[in-house]
Amino acid sequence: MGARALNDDLRRLLDLQEVDEFIAEARVKQKKLPQVVAAELTAFQEATAQLQAAEVLLAKHEAFKREREGELADQEAHIERLKGRLKEITNTREYQAHIQEMDTAQRAISKLEEEVLQALADIDTVKEEIAGHRTVFDERRAVYNAERAKVDVELATLDAQVSAFQGKKVERAALVPPLLLRRYERITQSVRRAVVAVEGYNCAGCNMNVPPQLVSEVKRGNGIHQCPHCQRLLYVPAPPVEETAAG
Ligand SMILES: [Zn+2]
Repeated sequence: MGARALNDDLRRLLDLQEVDEFIAEARVKQKKLPQVVAAELTAFQEATAQLQAAEVLLAKHEAFKREREGELADQEAHIERLKGRLKEITNTREYQAHIQEMDTAQRAISKLEEEVLQALADIDTVKEEIAGHRTVFDERRAVYNAERAKVDVELATLDAQVSAFQGKKVERAALVPPLLLRRYERITQSVRRAVVAVEGYNCAGCNMNVPPQLVSEVKRGNGIHQCPHCQRLLYVPAPPVEETAAG
């Protein structure tokens, strides 16, 4: 094994990459967080839809009842008028026609009364249903709001972290030579990590074999070297620090 030296520029690039990875991870978490409450949101939306549908139905029954009550009042006024005119009729045929008209009005009144009663029963049923839907709605809204609040806190924390990392990114990027920085940014457009280790004789980015001559050059730490297969920038990690018998 030859001496290992990490190129200073690469070291700075690795520092930058570290921050970029923190930012990328935070962004992934931010994207995933709303999914955590997706099930609660769906349940809440379903409960809302059921409650609203029941309220629409109630309004329909109430409108129907009002309409029939109006017609009922009209028919009752009509029959009162007919009754009032009854004494004025002397002609038998006219009298029979009049009685028949009163009979028709009375039948209409009976039918309207039945319809109003049915509407009242329907209204009671729907009101009970609404009470049930409202209980479910209140529960699901509470669960969703509680979960949502937790997620919002986490999102705010991640936002703060990303801001801090972005500040650090600017600091660290300023230490990297511009040409190398541009190369790094170009590579990161297609892959997540632009700087990867050589593990044995393999590129840790694409797992392909790196020629031994190139590995030696990377180890010497002179210049910047790219994987011939994936173009990622290569470095050889320092060997783990051995625990010595010191102390
Ligand atoms: Zn590679």
